[in-house]
Amino acid sequence: MEKPQAHVVLFIFPAQGHSYPFLSLATQLHHYWPSLTITLVSTSHHTSSIRSSLPPDSRLQLHSLPFYPADHGLPASAESFSDIPVAQFITFFKATETLYPAFDDFISSLVSNASNHAPLCIVTDFFYGWTVDIAHKYKVYHTTFLTMGAFGGAVFCSLWLNLPHTLTKSNRFSLPEYPEIVMDRSQLPKLILEANGTDEWSQFVNRQIRFLHKTDAVVINTVEEFEPLGLGMLRKTFKFPIWPIGPLLALANQPSSSKFEYETTIMTFLDSQPPASVLYISFGSQNTIQQKQMMHLAQGLEDSGCSFIWVIRPPIGYDPRGGFRDEWLPHGFKARIKKKHKGLLVHGWAPQLKILGHRSTAAFLSHCGWNSILESISNGVPIVAWPLDAEQIFNSMMLVEVGLGVELARGMMESSEPTKAKVEEVVDLMMGPNAKGMEIRRRAKEYINVMNKAWDEEGGSSRESFLQFVQSSNRAAANK
Ligand code: UDP
Repeated sequence: MEKPQAHVVLFIFPAQGHSYPFLSLATQLHHYWPSLTITLVSTSHHTSSIRSSLPPDSRLQLHSLPFYPADHGLPASAESFSDIPVAQFITFFKATETLYPAFDDFISSLVSNASNHAPLCIVTDFFYGWTVDIAHKYKVYHTTFLTMGAFGGAVFCSLWLNLPHTLTKSNRFSLPEYPEIVMDRSQLPKLILEANGTDEWSQFVNRQIRFLHKTDAVVINTVEEFEPLGLGMLRKTFKFPIWPIGPLLALANQPSSSKFEYETTIMTFLDSQPPASVLYISFGSQNTIQQKQMMHLAQGLEDSGCSFIWVIRPPIGYDPRGGFRDEWLPHGFKARIKKKHKGLLVHGWAPQLKILGHRSTAAFLSHCGWNSILESISNGVPIVAWPLDAEQIFNSMMLVEVGLGVELARGMMESSEPTKAKVEEVVDLMMGPNAKGMEIRRRAKEYINVMNKAWDEEGGSSRESFLQFVQSSNRAAANK
């Protein structure tokens, strides 16, 4: 195999769920091809947080682009989704489009500087679709890294391309591109249901899909054997090569220090519980639920009697960075679970991968963010799904379909609140001694092997895809 000499530029979107897989990809690229020059590009603030998570001897280069959230009506410190309420997400997305000239200048300077390793390959996030025009202007190979799942991604694109859905008459409908996929209106995220094709969200997402059609190739954080259906769907729609290279997990990049202030408490709690007895609950790096939903979830958990670790944030409508108020939970809840040694509330950030890898963890109540799914399934932990938005709902559909999870609730509207009886029922099903739950748990254990084999030295499917991706892009870039 030829030795790739390329300079690879990884342009990272400033959101936790996006930067972890990008950093893992950079680490893998560097591991397999130390001869590559790799530059990570992001917004100024995000670049500093990436820098602090890299080992001091890292040979990855960093380049930051100036970004002033306040210029776009966002809080000055809003450099990632976790800093802003959901209502401002679209403003944030659109603000990142103003990075165009700075990124253009950066690529231009690389291309014109003869001392740089050429040829160049740009790997960008789906939300930076516009980079494809810059890449092609400078005759640089352009790869989109999809940090979402294949099934979720294919359904997501199809729904946005077929707006509006308010006109969908029947409750059940099939996707025009994939007639075999039948959906229920209740599986449409609020954003898509309300989109009419001309609003800001419709325009932004459809722009990214149009750009995606122009990319030279896609690498995607999934596994061929885990998502044959979704990958088939994507390959039917998009004509460029699609290389599944997952699971790229966050492990190597999770900061182990200050971010996890409760780490010891969490691990001590897990150590003290029987094997496969704890429900881990988290809605990802940026989402939260309604206060009423929080109340019902807490009551259901308490009534079910199961042990749990719950990473909890202020409910929707409250400052995501503000303090947590006990009044958002049932009266006396905290004291009771503490006394019974049944539950742990984590305010802030939990070491998710360590929790999922612990023998006491039985199931994961998750919003079905793609990284959370990969991390859970790679550890053989089945999912109690509560997808909140975007493609999370389709991720949940896929998990239920392949028998790796059950859905507890859907969406962040108060109307989708799970009653406490439903919480009890699902927790019992997933964690209790019943046939359906046992089958799901057995299947989840089987998938440890499926996921881990993907990167095997001998013929692992993701490893093979990864090798092909680097070889092809190196060759194609050289011919540009
Ligand atoms: N995460 C974590 N601790 C937390 C919350 C999240 O380590 O308390 C990590 C989690 O392991 C995952 C990422 O943040 O790698 C969340 O990504 P995901 O795609 O699941 O959801 P998103 O946050 O993008 O909605």
